[in-house]
Amino acid sequence: MFRAVVATAALSSGLLAGERALVDTTHSPHAAMYMVDLDDVRWDGGLLGDRFEVCRETMIPHMWTIFSDVHESHAWANFEMAAGVGEGRGTGKAHGPPFNDGDFLKWLEALAQVYAITRDPAIDAEMDRLIAVIAKAQREDGYLHTQKIIPQRRAAADANKQEFEDREHFETYNMGHLITTACVQDRVTGKTTLLDCARKAADYIDGLCRNVPEDLARNAICPSHYMGVVELYRITREPRYLRLAEQLIEIRSLVPEAIASDHNQDRIPFRDSTEAVGHAVRANYLYAGVADIVAENGDTSLLAPLRAIDRDIATQKLYVTGMTGALYDGASPDGVDHRQHRFIKTVHQAYGRDYQLPNLTAYNETCATIGYGMWLWRMLTLTGEARYADLFENTLYNGILPGISLEGKHYFYVNPLKKLHDLQVPLRWSRTRMPNIKASFCCPPNVVRVIAQAHNYLYTLSPDTLWVHLYGASALDTQWSDGARIRLHQETNYPWPGAIKFTIDEAPAREIALKLRIPGWVREGAATLRINGQAWPAGSSIPHSAPGTPQSPSPGSYHEIRRTFRAGDVIELALDFSPVLLESNPLVEETLDQVAVRNGPIVYCLESNDLPEGVRLSDVALPLADPHRSFTAQTETIAGAEVVSLTTPAVVLQRPAWKADQLYREATPTQARPIALKLVPYYAWGNRGDTEMTVWLPAR
Ligand SMILES: [Zn+2]
Repeated sequence: MFRAVVATAALSSGLLAGERALVDTTHSPHAAMYMVDLDDVRWDGGLLGDRFEVCRETMIPHMWTIFSDVHESHAWANFEMAAGVGEGRGTGKAHGPPFNDGDFLKWLEALAQVYAITRDPAIDAEMDRLIAVIAKAQREDGYLHTQKIIPQRRAAADANKQEFEDREHFETYNMGHLITTACVQDRVTGKTTLLDCARKAADYIDGLCRNVPEDLARNAICPSHYMGVVELYRITREPRYLRLAEQLIEIRSLVPEAIASDHNQDRIPFRDSTEAVGHAVRANYLYAGVADIVAENGDTSLLAPLRAIDRDIATQKLYVTGMTGALYDGASPDGVDHRQHRFIKTVHQAYGRDYQLPNLTAYNETCATIGYGMWLWRMLTLTGEARYADLFENTLYNGILPGISLEGKHYFYVNPLKKLHDLQVPLRWSRTRMPNIKASFCCPPNVVRVIAQAHNYLYTLSPDTLWVHLYGASALDTQWSDGARIRLHQETNYPWPGAIKFTIDEAPAREIALKLRIPGWVREGAATLRINGQAWPAGSSIPHSAPGTPQSPSPGSYHEIRRTFRAGDVIELALDFSPVLLESNPLVEETLDQVAVRNGPIVYCLESNDLPEGVRLSDVALPLADPHRSFTAQTETIAGAEVVSLTTPAVVLQRPAWKADQLYREATPTQARPIALKLVPYYAWGNRGDTEMTVWLPAR
């Protein structure tokens, strides 16, 4: 459907560099940096570059076949019916979950991003065709939610239902994604049809905010519109949209006590929040939207709860894979006085209590982790703190990438860290990858859009400074807002072991700073830099150097190289990629006395099809005291994708099998038989049939 063509020259849009970015903070007074434009970075192979190619060739075209087939999804048929065209190919009625509009729009955002890179005229024409229908589906007053518009258009009996009557209709979610997609599509194409729809939608929301703020606040479910409205402010520079975004947070306190809950993070004023509670997608979209607002207005009373919640998650509620939202179902009294029983309400797909991180029954909705990633990215651009880049990288590789199969056509809605066939507990969502998730197709297009956009997260700019956050084989061609240009290319196997080499192709004729992120996972003293073959900083390679000599690159920080770069300059960064065994805080009882393997930024897992015949997954252990532990890395292919596996000595505990009805038995001494254990990257699991899997292994 979409073929790649060589990119043409950038649009002569009259915009400053950075104003055609995914998230535009070029003018945000309180942001530490701004993103480069949507087409400034191009992959040159590598893990994420390969994912982009699969996204372009398979994920996006395949997802269109789902969206456009009424037997698979009614998402597109609903838009057609709301627009009065096509009549949903004979079905006549809206079908599918009410949030399908927003899910379709995420896919359209991914399509716009691919167009930014390929400039394939067929994609441009396809977007025009789709956007014409979306624009026609929108009501004149700006409202766009196909499931309500379709009966209204047909004057059907159920057309009397008012908008925003049922908060589970996700109207603000749908319109939020309309606004976000429109900003991206406009920045990529310079065309304003969808952006005009976004303005109308925002104006409609603005009217609700002024006239029926309580109704609007009640309906902030998975509030993508917070991010959307701020981005609309950034693209239009109309202050009323920033005021609207600010008001959208303020009106949350109007939600009536009877329905306010930790589940929707509205039981207490946001400013009083100190911990992550409730539905994790709703929570993370809220936090990301608030971070966007803080970048514009610098409101420290909004930043303080973000900081507190961020610490709460990172120190007590985050999976080793960067995933969030541990629980299928639970109950939360946490948003208010926890001793008051009467406040307890149910939560689902939610953050759990501190250290409550189950593996077999982990929920970890892919969308929740994507929301977490969007929030982390905003915290990074707001503060310039490397810890957010560390968290973001972990979440991207180990939390988001697993959401779609390597071949690009199967999806995870939930993401357990362990799977055993013997556990027969019926859960709502499949723990094998599914070709379609009809009840809730929110995650698949969300993960596709992140993969399409991942190159945007490598670099940012601030005055006279180029920040490097992620590493990957790629080329950068960008400009600072003042027009100074920098071009460079990056050669590396990252995230697999190996050096990272930057070659400057063009740089301003003045001193600039290159800020290289030294990942937090690197051991102290295990990162070295060379510029044009010379150690940098000069003297840093001398052990026990005197005070005052330049510091070696320090993990968990940005290392600054300030100089006048010239074309041909080569910067080489070497990081120690030795695999490490991780253990968890003992308060995480689900992983007590277990270890997980991480190599560089990649978390590994054991999958049952890599075990010798007859060995049970739950009988495998890693001897922690092994002084000779070695890991052998090997490049291999899983489902058409190159991955690096690790093989390490382990043991199989010679234990009798458990009987089906047996809960306890007498523990007896067990023999341990050595085996060579192969581990694969966690993101690559579930691509070779219905396997058992575990991230954590007993340490013996
Ligand atoms: Zn989802």
